[in-house]
Amino acid sequence: MSLSEIKQRLSKACATYGRNESDVTLIAVSKVQPNERVEEVLKEGHRVFGENKVQEAAGKWPMFRETYDGIELHLIGPLQSNKARQAMELAQSIHTVDRPKIAITIARLAQEMGQCPELFIQVNTGEEPQKAGISPAEADAFIKECRDMDLPVRGLMCIPPVEEEASLHFALLRKIAERNGLTGLSMGMSDDFEKAISFGATHVRVGSAIFGARHYE
Ligand SMILES: *Cc1c(COP(=O)(O)O)cnc(C)c1O
Repeated sequence: MSLSEIKQRLSKACATYGRNESDVTLIAVSKVQPNERVEEVLKEGHRVFGENKVQEAAGKWPMFRETYDGIELHLIGPLQSNKARQAMELAQSIHTVDRPKIAITIARLAQEMGQCPELFIQVNTGEEPQKAGISPAEADAFIKECRDMDLPVRGLMCIPPVEEEASLHFALLRKIAERNGLTGLSMGMSDDFEKAISFGATHVRVGSAIFGARHYE
């Protein structure tokens, strides 16, 4: 796979499911990929990227920003409070607001810094104990809590359990977003981004299908 093939598949999915292409952002998830591969995708003109770890993002994106304009960085991995400031300096979007403590930290820093990335609230739609995210039952209250702190909540994010049908989780996330008047839906990865588009995804997070398999050291 490559960036151009994924973009074609994305266009086709939008046409099939009656979605506006301009309503679906393709986040190229560059975590763990060698810098040369990331640079190839930058040279093809792509500017929207996703990273899991603040540390790793800090090690490559300030450097790439010296050469390439208009880079938009999305943080899609778990966020610790002590990394929040750095995350907010680096990223235009944080997809993993998953508990009151981090929301409070972000709100405090936003006041102090006079700026805040757009935020997605991560919902643990599969209610998996090992996975981050607010439980579906607590989502409405948590969304309200974030809004009461004036946080710029753009939408919701989920990572469906691997062994379950993703559609059920995409539908649940959309339902929670709709009843809370939220339009952003960060859902869908390499294996199921087209399905996510059919359920209304506004942000798909595609890594290996663009860059190839990740090789962890
Ligand atoms: C790594 C990652 C992705 C991309 O996964 P692929 O299967 O490589 O497309 C998407 N979302 C999150 C939260 C990730 O951690």
